[in-house]
Amino acid sequence: MKIDLHAHSNCSDGKESVEEVFRQAKLAGVDVLALTDHDTTHGWPLAAAAASVEGIGFVPGIEVTTRAHVYSPTGELHKFGVHMLAYLPDPNHEELQRVLSDSVTSRELRLRAIVEKIGADYDLDWSDVEMFLADGATFGRPAVADAMVHRGHFSNRDEVFAEVWPNGIDRYYVPNRGVPDTVESIRLIRRAGGVPIIAHPLSRGKGPEVGEAMPREHFEEMIAAGLAGFEVDHRDVPEHAQKWLREMAAQFDLIVTGSSDYHGLDGKQNRLGENTTTPEMLERIIAQATGTKAQL
Ligand code: AMP
Ligand code: FE
Ligand code: FE
Ligand code: ZN
Repeated sequence: MKIDLHAHSNCSDGKESVEEVFRQAKLAGVDVLALTDHDTTHGWPLAAAAASVEGIGFVPGIEVTTRAHVYSPTGELHKFGVHMLAYLPDPNHEELQRVLSDSVTSRELRLRAIVEKIGADYDLDWSDVEMFLADGATFGRPAVADAMVHRGHFSNRDEVFAEVWPNGIDRYYVPNRGVPDTVESIRLIRRAGGVPIIAHPLSRGKGPEVGEAMPREHFEEMIAAGLAGFEVDHRDVPEHAQKWLREMAAQFDLIVTGSSDYHGLDGKQNRLGENTTTPEMLERIIAQATGTKAQL
């Protein structure tokens, strides 16, 4: 049983339509796929139909952009982006939709600011990016990357990310400040009947290095707020973090998942089904959800 709980379509920054993503899932031998576009539920009805066509299961999800506020032992405030997967929330929950729509709006302002910074050094302006922004899609840096490729500055998205945003936070980076606080987002997802699971926690370059202290208190705060689990098996989660997360999950009886974070064959190297979630863990997610139903 191949269960992949994290994939993107062109409703956000994936390169393929929802129909194509499900076609590819079928080809990859995936039995159950969650569509988790960034900050939107627009793809869900299309996914429900596409999953029926392909004869595979569909789990509705969202990858919610959040911002963590964490104090270090010396009292310094650190802010950083955290992606929070929300499985099976009520798509008609007003507060959730309002928060998502605010995020999407501020994503555009932030992307324009990023393009302005890049435009100072490269031949690039907003009109180059616009053609890679589909109507109704959630805007993100991959569209800027596509525009850079189109302009001939680089040959693919990966190259752009490696050169332009090598450490995630660089001179061409602008954070999205119009997104919910991480702990607040956990509470909101629960209020909407959803199941919050951190996407690619402590991902490469974003978490502590080998030997450094893990942010235990921050994780305990998220768990106290209702965090359901961690996406442990993901190509961006380093091995030392995976081990620590598994121990933490065992201690607090949390869910652990594995997923691809597919963005299209041509969008990112991640391949559908490259990491999977056990049926037991999917059952636990479904058992906790009260917002909407999975189509299995
Ligand atoms: P944003 O949401 O605007 O901050 O952009 C982040 C998105 O960029 C992530 O959700 C990934 O989908 C995408 N991304 C990050 N690194 C790469 C990469 N190396 N190649 C292609 N896409 C990437
Ligand atoms: Fe993405
Ligand atoms: Fe993510
Ligand atoms: Zn993702």
